[in-house]
Amino acid sequence: MKPLVLVGGCGAVGSWLIPSLDETVALLCADRDIIAPENLGVAAFDAAAHLDPQRAQHARRSADPQRSADAQNAADVTDASGASPLLGRKKAEVVAERHRARGGWAYALHGDVRYTLTPGLASRLDAAVVCFDNASAFRDVSEVLWSAARPGIPILAVTCGGGDDEHWQVRLFATGGLCPACMQSPAERQEGTSSTRASCAAAEAPRASARAAEAAGRAGASLLARVMAGERSLVGRRLQRDGREAAPWSVRMPEAAVPGCPIPHGRETWRIEELLQGVDDLTVGALAERARDLAGMDATFVLGRRALPLAGFTCPQCKHASGAPELLLPAAAALARACDCPGVLRPLGERRTITAHELVGGPMRDTSLRAWGASPGDGFLVTGAEATVELRCRLTWEELDRG
Ligand SMILES: [Zn+2]
Ligand SMILES: [Zn+2]
Repeated sequence: MKPLVLVGGCGAVGSWLIPSLDETVALLCADRDIIAPENLGVAAFDAAAHLDPQRAQHARRSADPQRSADAQNAADVTDASGASPLLGRKKAEVVAERHRARGGWAYALHGDVRYTLTPGLASRLDAAVVCFDNASAFRDVSEVLWSAARPGIPILAVTCGGGDDEHWQVRLFATGGLCPACMQSPAERQEGTSSTRASCAAAEAPRASARAAEAAGRAGASLLARVMAGERSLVGRRLQRDGREAAPWSVRMPEAAVPGCPIPHGRETWRIEELLQGVDDLTVGALAERARDLAGMDATFVLGRRALPLAGFTCPQCKHASGAPELLLPAAAALARACDCPGVLRPLGERRTITAHELVGGPMRDTSLRAWGASPGDGFLVTGAEATVELRCRLTWEELDRG
């Protein structure tokens, strides 16, 4: 198997980074968004951008020579009606398809990384590059990587500045040590959903922002290649460039985890029970029975990030209230949806533990884990009088296709 790399965030920076990676790298492309009109100018979603330079040139030359390259670019991104065929498509799927078109291996994880990046997937990674535009995604991805990925694999956090200054910043971490959440401000930690400063989205200057995103993506791809080739001295450093004309410089980050970081830095260890079935084959009842076998009759599921909704949902836009199906988030929110508003339904409350006894006797007993809201490679932490153990679902790559 080729080295497996997670690219978290496939928008502005990620869409430029992926085509700069060696095509032999195997990719998991994670993003929750679909392509919107404002993304076309900033991210590498125009059709010409994913061709290699020679093919792109050939495509332009073989087109009407009277038309400028810019006009040809514009034609590539629009169809006869003037709309891009990429509008409305999932970002993760588009970039994964392009990597496969170059001969690479890639799967798309469409959705919130809190739910799509499972411990089973994290445990198989050789590296990760995260290019998110919000603090909570950095925290979610740190939590699963620092608990389930192999220790010492490189994790790069890539951001870019807005405007045309082509400012970029790459921070190089390794699992087990300092994590991206260590570097968050208390406000970012508290809010969890606040945007970080470094977003490439600048609707008024899309071309300038595209240059900044492209510079950041290329820098991230080049540093990933170097660290994966063995240049371990890069780990623990923050590299940045402050403008197009400026030389990149670097500074050493703190060595150890920062006190107050909410991510467990390898302090908790529990036994992992690898299950023989995946999320399509296992039922909620069978999982709960297994939990009682291993942890005791009082076994309790500690759901953590995989909460259950309590007492229904409301729509933030139209205030419509709906009941809460007994599914994990966000599957419960998708099923409860009764209006057409954009945005995510908010649960009135969240439940973070449930006993195996409740699940064995509950209405979801015969439901598959997938339908319950679990993702391929999901892990369930269970604690009881006899043991604390993580039940980890088997993972096959085909399962990602069925999602
Ligand atoms: Zn940390
Ligand atoms: Zn609504």
